[in-house]
Amino acid sequence: MKDPEEPMIPVELALEIVLREALPLPEERIPLADAAGRVLAQEVLSDSDHPPFAKALMDGYALRSADVREVPVELEVVEEIPAGKMPSHAVAAGQAARIMTGAPLPEGADAVQMVEKTGELSRDGHIQILEPVNPGANMAPRGQQLKAGQRVLSPGDFLTAARLGVLAGVGCGKVTVRRRPRVAVAPTGDELVDYDSVPEDGQIRNSNGVALMAAARTLGAGVSDSGIVRDDATALSECIATGLLSDLLLLSGGVSMGTYDLVERALEMQGVDVFFRKIAIRPGKPAVFGRKGRCLVFGLPGNPVSYLVIFEVLVAPAIRRMQGLPRPEGRFLHATLEATVVQRTGRTAYLPGTLRFVEGSARIRPIPTTGSADLPAYSRADALLILPAGRERVDAGERVEVLVLESSWQASLLG
Ligand code: AMP
Ligand code: MG
Repeated sequence: MKDPEEPMIPVELALEIVLREALPLPEERIPLADAAGRVLAQEVLSDSDHPPFAKALMDGYALRSADVREVPVELEVVEEIPAGKMPSHAVAAGQAARIMTGAPLPEGADAVQMVEKTGELSRDGHIQILEPVNPGANMAPRGQQLKAGQRVLSPGDFLTAARLGVLAGVGCGKVTVRRRPRVAVAPTGDELVDYDSVPEDGQIRNSNGVALMAAARTLGAGVSDSGIVRDDATALSECIATGLLSDLLLLSGGVSMGTYDLVERALEMQGVDVFFRKIAIRPGKPAVFGRKGRCLVFGLPGNPVSYLVIFEVLVAPAIRRMQGLPRPEGRFLHATLEATVVQRTGRTAYLPGTLRFVEGSARIRPIPTTGSADLPAYSRADALLILPAGRERVDAGERVEVLVLESSWQASLLG
């Protein structure tokens, strides 16, 4: 049970515990076309040289560069080679082959002169070359990009559009990836009503559910909505029992010291091992983390900014690790503070801010906020500025540590 005297654990330790418990999920083999946004769990080697043959990079004439040192010069055109066809003649001295982009270069040719730098093809099959070319010009030698057997992608690589293209190019029709985490989202509270209904006196719309589901989904998780759960031991137990069938259960609300804050007790009743209950963080102190079997559980605070900060700091790293993704070190940077901030000491503070780059150096401006319920203010942030637990005041102009929000990191709002 919650003990008011229980010490808070430092944020770094909380993260260490979360990463210790969050293990990469099992692998699965899926068709390449379905693999965008997934994380590779295998090494992929190129099955052949790329390109597999020396090929033309321009429409024009395959020729011997030594023949066109002095221009203009006429060459005999021995054939036309469209893309997809093998040449049937070698190119001898004084000869050329008309060639299309992507077509294999004939034996003997060491360059392509582009059609724009040639004259008209004469009736008797000669072409006038108007400019010299260097050996190797406008062509790619076999294996220029990849050699057969060369590694193209590794476990942990996030599958972007370009990487799917690479995999298709090396004939990888199926890929082994990490299973997507299945995340159950369960907002709790007697005051909550569906967001598309009109609250009566004392009620508020459930905004945590949709936001948490979106946050998990954009990190690659598959989500299920447990619906609003009432502050009632039986309802909570039932919801938790079902949620524990997922890889990750995210509850919000009901983890403070109030009479109706029953989440932690319900978790323990369901056999969840709780690793910590209080973090030295502002906002987000009452955050419960535990595990039962393979399912990780967060009991997040109900206040919007609190659970979103805990999501950034602890839940997102867990979801990434379950998929086998490395830590995105680039989310952490240092920036110059643009306005003085004052806070109570004792906990590490995460304050919403807007980040911008001026001549390549990062600056962060704190967003005025009324606190952990101020979701509209938080929604304007693209980063959190981190104030160490011992600092009461940090002055404008000082350098501070900054955590770029997952949403801006992904949308690359920062370029
Ligand atoms: P709790 O952690 O349950 O004490 O909730 C803290 C604050 O967050 C209260 O003002 C709640 O009304 C609010 N809150 C809790 N859950 C939600 C939710 N799903 N949507 C919007 N606000 C919530
Ligand atoms: Mg509540």
